[in-house]
Amino acid sequence: MMNSSLQLGKIMGIPVQLHWSFLLVILYIAWAFASFSQQVLGRSYGFGEIEPAGLRWAYSLIFSLVLFTCVALHELGHSYIALKNGIAIRSITLYFFGGVSAMEEIPRNPRLELQMAFAGPAVSGILGLMGILLATLLDEGSPLGIMLWMLGLLNIILMLFNLLPAFPMDGGRLLRAWFATQMPYIKATQRAASIGKLFAIIMFVLGLFSFNFILLFVAFFVYVGASEEEKATQISVSLEGTRVMDIMSDDVHTVDPDMTLQDLKEHMFEEKHRGYPVVSGDEVIGVVTLSDLQRIPQVDHADTRVAEVMTRKLYVIGPSEEASAAMMMMNKMNIRRLPVMSDGRLVGIVSREDLVRAIELCSGQD
Ligand SMILES: [Zn+2]
Repeated sequence: MMNSSLQLGKIMGIPVQLHWSFLLVILYIAWAFASFSQQVLGRSYGFGEIEPAGLRWAYSLIFSLVLFTCVALHELGHSYIALKNGIAIRSITLYFFGGVSAMEEIPRNPRLELQMAFAGPAVSGILGLMGILLATLLDEGSPLGIMLWMLGLLNIILMLFNLLPAFPMDGGRLLRAWFATQMPYIKATQRAASIGKLFAIIMFVLGLFSFNFILLFVAFFVYVGASEEEKATQISVSLEGTRVMDIMSDDVHTVDPDMTLQDLKEHMFEEKHRGYPVVSGDEVIGVVTLSDLQRIPQVDHADTRVAEVMTRKLYVIGPSEEASAAMMMMNKMNIRRLPVMSDGRLVGIVSREDLVRAIELCSGQD
């Protein structure tokens, strides 16, 4: 997922990335709006009538790029409030249905969440009104007038769509924050998520009956988003206050880079471990797992060394970091275990199983 995004630059210190799907959509929108022209209720839509063709395409491409900038501004609206309140934003990625901000943590303060969730739609609303206002000052039918009017309208639609009371839209967060002022956070999330799912089901049924595939797609997106949010909240709330050192195993077994895969297999069998940090001297130089082993044909195991198959890219975590941070890192990198390092020394290893056990224990307590 990391590699499928293009870094555009930094705004307010946050890296802004473009998902490749957005690139296609920019071109698609440019093409679509250059190819039609329609009058609806006294306003013109589309650049299809503009001559010569070069000018038509130029307007259409600029329109598409400005529209994409508006989506980015919506996202930066959220980020601005977050940064102002001391919440770090790792990056913003623009997808074809909008943006996603990777926050270090989602604020569990309802008032702050209300402000943050509201900031994005507020930016879109202001941009929308500005576009429409400017358009009415220009000649109806002039290329710039058409562009501003359409931009204004689309920003208003973006605002309304995001205010739908369903995760993962901003409206879902507003709803949760409002519930959270009256009940515990997990319960508020569950209630907001079930409203999101209900919305998704209604959209799905409407989509089926009207053969509207976009609606079916949005319904699916909303349903998955609502479920994910529910799960993520449950996990981060139940792991609250748990640190990596509380759940890691500090009895770390390591292997040598020169060990053969044959020996590694026997080692794994005996100790019932599925992965090991690879250590040379005092330094951790990689991680080798059962799936690395399984990639190599059986017959080559005797003369292939660990160093040849191990993963060299190393993600590590500190012992005093939050357990939920380890969880997020594993999910994001799609790995099952993290070496725990302190002052450059390997002090433990934390696995997905350790986290699952901790979540089960913690949620059993209350
Ligand atoms: Zn938003």
